[in-house]
Amino acid sequence: MSNYAIPKTMKAAVVVPGAHAADNLQIKDVPVKPQAQLAPGECLLKMICTGVCHTDLHAALGDWPVPPHSPLIGGHEGVGIVVAIGNNTAGSPVKLGDRVGVKWLANSCLNCESCRKGLEQTCEKAELSGYTVDGTFSEYVVSYVNHVTPIPDGFDSFAAASILCAGVTVYRAIKYSQTAPGDWIVLPGAGGGLGHMAVQYAKFMGLRPIAIDTGAEKKKLCLELGAEAWIDFRETKDIVAAVKAITGGKGAHSAVVTTASSSGYTQAVDYLRTGGTLMAVGLPGTAKLEASIFWTVFKSISILGSYVGNRQDAFEAIDIAARGGVTCHYVKKGLSALKDTYIQMQAGTLAGRIVLDFKE
Ligand code: NAD
Ligand code: ZN
Repeated sequence: MSNYAIPKTMKAAVVVPGAHAADNLQIKDVPVKPQAQLAPGECLLKMICTGVCHTDLHAALGDWPVPPHSPLIGGHEGVGIVVAIGNNTAGSPVKLGDRVGVKWLANSCLNCESCRKGLEQTCEKAELSGYTVDGTFSEYVVSYVNHVTPIPDGFDSFAAASILCAGVTVYRAIKYSQTAPGDWIVLPGAGGGLGHMAVQYAKFMGLRPIAIDTGAEKKKLCLELGAEAWIDFRETKDIVAAVKAITGGKGAHSAVVTTASSSGYTQAVDYLRTGGTLMAVGLPGTAKLEASIFWTVFKSISILGSYVGNRQDAFEAIDIAARGGVTCHYVKKGLSALKDTYIQMQAGTLAGRIVLDFKE
């Protein structure tokens, strides 16, 4: 089903994952999947824009225990228009012309135990955008009608893009962080893509964010977005003492760690108060979580992992953003800027997000 003129080829950023990913990233002409070849349940999106997540860099570098497919078109937080739907697709929740978002979880079976329990992210048949299937760093993307996220009318596509990964992920992590309004929440990585959204979702949920990251630009951003306190991890010698001083000596109720290296995790159990919760979100590929068993038990600490979000989390995170509750801080660039974005991301110099515009 399609009444759009769909070209045979499109521009896409293609990478062979490995140690020198930025060097071998190429913008190429690649085939667009024709409507007749879309399987039932698949849809084709004409992309408007896509955010760049640190996960895309991990994928390009082949950082993780399970490698992505290769060569790879990365990207998993994009917004586009449905321009084709596979024949024999029954009961599609979206129609031609709808503006929808692509998230990391491209598809899941919806029938297994994980899916039935709302943990669609861990479905054994899950397809992952920009990892197991090609993602949003291309002018057209094949996605799945049951998992794309409708973008409300009037909500800007560029503002919506990074909600689909950064926003959804931290929204869900904070939702399950066992906190209540008025509680202190520490956010290591607060100046990055996920972290700066976490500051805002935390604030929206009535929490008191303590931002940890580095540099004047990220400090300014975090404080403007509502962090009550700032700790520079490069300048502060004793981060545990600093968190305790801010929280009246008791420590924080929760920490949602969004650093891409293990360094943001190291002191977390020590600066949490009794009954506190450590939410692991940042994904270094091989690092182990080091925590004192004694103090984890003695302080009744919960250590939990939080992995993106399900369809409902995506609806909720987008709804909050569309109503102005949180705002992605982004810089708009063209697809050709992806290489440079990876270089800056690796150097840790990006505050907020880069969103790529397919018109540029
Ligand atoms: P980013 O590069 O935009 O942000 C990371 C931030 O961490 C940077 O601002 C950096 O300065 C900061 N940082 C580094 N070391 C630190 C330390 N010791 N203390 C405090 N801050 C420190 O990356 P991002 O796009 O926000 O992604 C962050 C991580 O989250 C990546 O590993 C990514 O793969 C992962 N991720 C996980 C999920 C999930 O479902 N759990 C979803 C999306 C992304
Ligand atoms: Zn992501």
